[in-house]
Amino acid sequence: MYSSLLAFGYLLASVTFIVGLKMLSHPATARRGNLVAAVGMTIAVLGTIFLYEKEGEPLGNYGWIFAGILVGTIIGTVSAKRVKMTAMPEMVSLFNGMGGACAALISLVEFDHLMHMDPMVLFALAMGGGEAVAGLQGFLLIILLGLIIGSISFAGSVIAWGKLNGSIKDFSFRGQHIFNLGLLTIIIGLAAYLVIALPANPHWYFYSIFALSVVYGLFFVFPIGGADMPVVISLLNSFTGVAAACGGFLYDNKVMLTGGILVGAAGTLLTILMCKAMNRSLANVLIGSFGGNTKASGSSATGGTYKEISLSDTAVLMSYANKVYIVPGYGLAVAQAQHTCHELEKLLESKGVEVNYAIHPVAGRMPGHMNVLLAEADVPYEKLKEMEQANDEFSTTDVVLILGANDVVNPAAKSDPASPIYGMPILDVELAKHVIVNKRSMKPGYAGIENELFFRPKTSMLFGDAKKILQELVAEIKSL
Ligand code: NDP
Repeated sequence: MYSSLLAFGYLLASVTFIVGLKMLSHPATARRGNLVAAVGMTIAVLGTIFLYEKEGEPLGNYGWIFAGILVGTIIGTVSAKRVKMTAMPEMVSLFNGMGGACAALISLVEFDHLMHMDPMVLFALAMGGGEAVAGLQGFLLIILLGLIIGSISFAGSVIAWGKLNGSIKDFSFRGQHIFNLGLLTIIIGLAAYLVIALPANPHWYFYSIFALSVVYGLFFVFPIGGADMPVVISLLNSFTGVAAACGGFLYDNKVMLTGGILVGAAGTLLTILMCKAMNRSLANVLIGSFGGNTKASGSSATGGTYKEISLSDTAVLMSYANKVYIVPGYGLAVAQAQHTCHELEKLLESKGVEVNYAIHPVAGRMPGHMNVLLAEADVPYEKLKEMEQANDEFSTTDVVLILGANDVVNPAAKSDPASPIYGMPILDVELAKHVIVNKRSMKPGYAGIENELFFRPKTSMLFGDAKKILQELVAEIKSL
């Protein structure tokens, strides 16, 4: 009776997912986009709970369902409120892992249902041959796909989460990629045998595939270098989407299918975009161990000398410049200096200096990290210039102020073929007249490699915590 209403709810939810996703592509609408999609998801979930009927029977089990929703809502809300911006990738990874685990659980439950089907029905299906067997095999294939992809995504995401928060170290051994390939071949082989031969003891095959998929997920992510984690998380995100879409097939649930496909497609596109931003192939990311425990063979231990600049000289240089570019990086986020940075920008503009921000696509620790950070401080979007545009403008820039960025301005990416970041496009800050680098020490950034920029003639180091330095700089400029 309610099926048309439910179908309409699903349609509405699917539309909100697409509209929400579109709105997420611009910082000005991203917040509302998230809300629109969340409303759609609420409609889909409540619709399923209250309107879904099987053979005229409602879903039931409301106590269990709402207890689960309550626990999940409390954990999700508290952790989302508490999480620091710099820890967002970890959280995304963990949430993504939960999605993969859900998809794997669906497969485990549905396999159990299949095994508890009336033996007579199963026998009739098997004996019926033709379409009936193909239907059974198709059902099993979807269950297995959801199981394999969901388990890999779950196990891989948990490792990614641990590696990002520092609780799990990079781990690899000789021939690990061959080992992984072998494991994947065994998983596919067992799944193919289970589907095609429909053996008499399917449990053994099914649970072996489950266990091997979890192991594969662990070993797939273990050797990947820390700096490549965002790409891996995005890839695992697309896996979870595909695994959820398998659930949509199993239950003939259109909104689950649409949501899964959207997540799968968005994750794949983001993976490709990030690889492009680093100028690397996905294969190189997955087996390259960039920024991992295979430390920087190309790290240029220059041993050169660097020069420091005082706060007052920086204040004078910036106040009398025509054009200034600020390069924000991970350190700016750590110092939570975005508001003070915006204050500096406004102060300089009041003195007639043109100030813009150069945003590198992988600056910080998650895609769009710097955009979100600066938007939080109400920096106008039009001031955030993409890497290509900033690179075109550096030659007419008087001062580049680098705030807690390192890898994204490392010239080794262009000049040192032995460097692990070789080929990654960087911000060509050296084209400007003066380069001032603010960081706390000479320690390397995420990729663990030294940065020759700090030793170049145009560069001056301004040591200290970004927030403290910016506060003092603002005070100094005001006193000029
Ligand atoms: P980096 O990690 O290369 O460098 C950050 C620098 O900030 C460090 O050298 C550190 O130096 C300095 N710093 C830390 N705390 C402070 C502070 N309180 N005040 C001032 N400086 C500080 O950052 P980038 O943004 O340049 O590059 C991002 C790197 O992270 C790339 O390698 C990228 O591939 C990787 N990555 C990117 C992700 C993304 O999606 N954007 C996700 C995960 C990794 P010191 O300790 O001396 O102060």
